[in-house]
Amino acid sequence: MAAETKTTCPYCGVGCGVIARVDDDGKVSVKGDPDHPSNFGRLCSKGSALGETVDLDGRLLYPEIAGERASWDEALDLMAKRFGETIAEHGPDAVAFYVSGQLLTEDYYVANKLMKGFIGSGNIDTNSRLCMSSSVAGHRRAFGADTVPGTYEDIELADLVILTGSNLAWCHPVIYQRLAAAKAARPAMKIVVIDPRRTMTCDIADLHLAIRPDGDVALFLGLFEHLITSNAIDQNYIAEHTNGFAETFAAASSLSFNRMLELTGLPAMQLREFYRLFAQTDKVVTCYSQGVNQSSSGTDKVNAIINCHLATGRIGRPGMGPFSLTGQPNAMGGREVGGLANMLAAHMAIESAEDRDRVQRFWQSPRIAVRPGLKAVDMFRAVADGRIKALWIMATNPVVSMPDADAVEAAIKACPFVVVSDVLRETDTTRHAHVLLPSLGWGEKDGTVTNSERRISRQRQFLATPDEARPDWWQMAEVGRRMGFSQAFSFQANAEIFAEHASLSGFENEGSRDFDIGAYEAIALEEYDALQPFQWPQPAGTSPKLTRFFAAGGFYHLDRKARFVAIEPPASDRTDSRFPLTLNTGRVRDHWHTMTRTGKSARLSGHIAEPFAEIHPRDAIEIGIAEASLIEIESPHGRVIVRALVTERQARGSLFVPMHWNDSFAAKARIDAVVAPVTDPVSGQPASKNVAVRAHRFQASHYCFAVSAAKPRNLDCAYWALAKADGGWRTELAFDRAPDDWIGWCRSTFDIPADLEPLGYADEASGDLRLAFFDGEQLLAALFVARQPVAVARNWAIAQLAASHSDLRKRFALIAGRPGADTIDAGATVCSCFSVGVNQIVAAIRGGCHSVEAVGKKLNAGTNCGSCRAEIRTIIDGCLAATAAE
Ligand code: SF4
Repeated sequence: MAAETKTTCPYCGVGCGVIARVDDDGKVSVKGDPDHPSNFGRLCSKGSALGETVDLDGRLLYPEIAGERASWDEALDLMAKRFGETIAEHGPDAVAFYVSGQLLTEDYYVANKLMKGFIGSGNIDTNSRLCMSSSVAGHRRAFGADTVPGTYEDIELADLVILTGSNLAWCHPVIYQRLAAAKAARPAMKIVVIDPRRTMTCDIADLHLAIRPDGDVALFLGLFEHLITSNAIDQNYIAEHTNGFAETFAAASSLSFNRMLELTGLPAMQLREFYRLFAQTDKVVTCYSQGVNQSSSGTDKVNAIINCHLATGRIGRPGMGPFSLTGQPNAMGGREVGGLANMLAAHMAIESAEDRDRVQRFWQSPRIAVRPGLKAVDMFRAVADGRIKALWIMATNPVVSMPDADAVEAAIKACPFVVVSDVLRETDTTRHAHVLLPSLGWGEKDGTVTNSERRISRQRQFLATPDEARPDWWQMAEVGRRMGFSQAFSFQANAEIFAEHASLSGFENEGSRDFDIGAYEAIALEEYDALQPFQWPQPAGTSPKLTRFFAAGGFYHLDRKARFVAIEPPASDRTDSRFPLTLNTGRVRDHWHTMTRTGKSARLSGHIAEPFAEIHPRDAIEIGIAEASLIEIESPHGRVIVRALVTERQARGSLFVPMHWNDSFAAKARIDAVVAPVTDPVSGQPASKNVAVRAHRFQASHYCFAVSAAKPRNLDCAYWALAKADGGWRTELAFDRAPDDWIGWCRSTFDIPADLEPLGYADEASGDLRLAFFDGEQLLAALFVARQPVAVARNWAIAQLAASHSDLRKRFALIAGRPGADTIDAGATVCSCFSVGVNQIVAAIRGGCHSVEAVGKKLNAGTNCGSCRAEIRTIIDGCLAATAAE
């Protein structure tokens, strides 16, 4: 029997335990680890499809210099030389590392040590800056340290769970499943969702507050005042454990109720209901995520939330507390090692001379960064204006994910020396690298990650190291050694790095710092290999245990008290007459970040196969958008063209566009090219949720849908979006000027041999055209062209790639663009695990399945990972409402 390996999912901050298995034929399968305390065996759709994303297709397997294969020695020597020369000539701040929450803690530790302790600059920042740095800043202001007080268990134990700026169902699906199960077991539990959109998470909400963008500060200031005036505060806790209460109350009181209604955009009744629920419920957990963090007032939002928990003393006890849910698998690990430009290692402060001295003595380093480095947005500005002359980007794709992404691309392109460490050869960022270093991917690399509840788990290697790919920590240690720091970077194994990291966390700590895993300072290789998931802190001499912080105070400011932070509500409206709409960006259920991994899975791409913009029906009418037409969205920084999804889930005056699509999967859908580089003044986190834009219909002369066995190439049209499909590829296209020769275009795009003649149909009056190319019984490509968005059933057309076409009727059905009467079109995939489409679910509902369980019993949909259960419930509600209205 094939061996099984316990490891951790590499996607979101939930940090689910995974059991991976490699069969004799090399096929990788995964299942949830029932013993892992974060997920107890559950996985979401992304985690369940991990086995489909580990192939070597598109991998970078050898170092390259200037696009040519090079040896590791040549690449590393060149890097040490160029970094050394740049530092000698322009000083340490002329080099920078831009790293990632995808790195393992050991990678992160070495990166931070090299930059802050040996190069001597603070210029290391991470894509976690874009994800949760406002939470870090808020924690540090309130608690004196970046401490997440609670655990996932609290979310299940609470009587009131508030989800603000968090589409939990899609972004942290296993926490959502745990919450949904807790509510099913205890229906009296209340759930409030605060989000401008009616997301899938609202499916389990008792109350949805469709707040205006950035109205959260006003909402929680109003709550703070309400708690005081309704006598719901904990006077003893405030007196014993906090400072700044009076000033914060004064600031909150200055906000009138009417102004609050204006800033939040909420009806008074809803607001009062929310305040009443919070005031009257002891066990309250407030979960927040990117909707809070990715804002120009992100840090203030975090503190406005924490203020309410401090005022009621609802923190650090079972079922109580503010809870930051991190987006990335190791954003927390990065914070622990000081991977942010404004932090030092082991939660120490770069601004503190005492902390700097301590870290320098521990590292025995020749220097130490004396001030914070440049945060992500400023870092790329410095690359653009030439202050940074040598840049090393690791495990991230800033040309897609940074705001003002086109300007970031131009900056990288112009930088004199760029190194990119990645697993893929072709990304939007790797194409600008002078040196490319092949890194290990999930399943190949080995180390630790920390999830949102402070739980450190092992990612373990279970696949062979491919060709010359190497761990990121090894790459950095090699460069460190070649820059003359042999002793400090003599690591031979990741266990040694983890032990040093643990040792630094306990060094001169004695309870003065929250992050302490000194118990592992002498961990041996075998113990590291067998390491079980544990929560920090775990100082030397202690055993693993479930920990909550601050129930009895013990904060990390010098006086060991927490700080209330007095806050002014920001003006939230960024729109004007030229850019009258508000753009909100975010995630979809089945894709991860810039799709470099999830884009490999046909199953995951089947859920949502092209970039889209959600728009309210009345806004759509005003700007002439019909369902499925194309919409062009622009700001002063850039533009995208995506599919319009007209839905009442979207608030009026706003658009939602996912963040995932990159230039490998769509012509023009990098939404961060549209996002302005506006940041929170405290955290430096970009405001990706409240961007002023305008939109109009993209007028295409021809729309097309294609399925093809070969990946389309040289796509040259105004709009295209391609996705993996079973048996090949699916592509949506739109032309502003159609090709003169469609058959020739198909031949070159879909790699069709010249001697194969197509089966075709054309109607000049309507403009409809259909072409299909067969090689024997097999369909090679089919193209459907129309002057309006093409109405052909997508999943049925895709299924034709794997079907036999020996029967001529099948070929004609394809050209007709319609399944035969004997064939059911499954419709867009809802359940990825069992490939169940929306049409099948609707048919089951019409057949009497009026609950998620009944649909699951009939179709299996929603019975494995459960990620689609919210959508199934929404489809049921929609069908039943439509039936009632008939
Ligand atoms: Fe991975 Fe899904 Fe778990 Fe997140 S919730 S860690 S994506 S399996």
